[in-house]
Amino acid sequence: MQILTNSRRQSFDRCPRNHYYAYELCRRPRRKSDALYFGTIFHNLRALYRSHDLAAALTWLDQQTINEWNQLHLIIASELIQGYANVYWNDPMLPLPDGIEREFTAPLINPLTLAPSRTWLLAGKNDELAIHPSDGTTVLVEAKTTSEDLAPDSTYWMRLTLDPQISTYYVGATSLGFEPKQACYDVIHKPKFTIKDSIPVLDPEGIPIVKDQRGARVLKTNGTPRRTADSAKGFTLLTRQETLPEFAQRLATHISANTDFYFKRFYLPRTETDLEEFMFDTWQIARNIRDCQLRQAQLETKSLSPLPAWPRKPRSCFDFHRPCSYFQICAHTENILDNNRFETTPQNPELDITAPDHYTYEPSH
Ligand code: SF4
Repeated sequence: MQILTNSRRQSFDRCPRNHYYAYELCRRPRRKSDALYFGTIFHNLRALYRSHDLAAALTWLDQQTINEWNQLHLIIASELIQGYANVYWNDPMLPLPDGIEREFTAPLINPLTLAPSRTWLLAGKNDELAIHPSDGTTVLVEAKTTSEDLAPDSTYWMRLTLDPQISTYYVGATSLGFEPKQACYDVIHKPKFTIKDSIPVLDPEGIPIVKDQRGARVLKTNGTPRRTADSAKGFTLLTRQETLPEFAQRLATHISANTDFYFKRFYLPRTETDLEEFMFDTWQIARNIRDCQLRQAQLETKSLSPLPAWPRKPRSCFDFHRPCSYFQICAHTENILDNNRFETTPQNPELDITAPDHYTYEPSH
């Protein structure tokens, strides 16, 4: 059997060629994008905080290897998880025992015949199963980090209405024996600012230093230091880059003063109709992937390239405001077999589950 995760489905939805490289060849970029790296780091931090405590999360963060590329990400993640813990320290929505990062498998049901697929198995990992504070029902909690606008009328929330990910998790939670009634999107907004390139250098008294063209400090007529620049007179303010601890402090202050900007939760029900439509969509997407696989097999029996079986979708090449990880491959300027750029990974690296040969389906209702 084959495993169909939400990530795999999204990859095929985005572009069949993307799916071919990521899920058939299992070749993935060695270096993650900034957004993906930060999302993964914060996801782990939040899971540790929710399953243990803040100390456990920060200890794990301290153990990450720091380099020039990731150190700012780690600082931002550290300040955000501390801000998150401050906001939700008395959270009435508590995770169920063993409710964090629960893996699941579930049959992919043909929505017309109600028979389980003999080819596909749905699988994934629920971020969190929690208890709703007011009625005690199970809530599917989905944690997200984003830089997008989170205003109530923004497209971010509209998009979630049709998001197949949460529907996959409904099906998964049901297969684990839960009966979720709604989903909670637990969204963390990434800061909109970064390290300042230019802040005033201060003297031991905390006064900015202004220099003239000869490099001498500029004094006012009363003998006290001048505090502002004047380009017409050639007076310049001495500046330097903000340090990482200064940035961390500024961010911590901004987070504690703007918790509504950084941390938002949104409850979303899934109706029977939503789930039914999801099953029709998913069944069709699984069939489409299988059709591409069969076409690839036909081409390979004729010793032809498998690529035509997986059509490209150029409109998706710059989704998420950055080039697709395989852009250079599709543009024929790099080779997917280049081990400096790509590595061979498990097909579903986020899961411990592997596809069984057979799956016994015992419908409960
Ligand atoms: S670069 Fe474009 S065509 Fe190529 S895999 Fe990515 S989305 Fe598809």
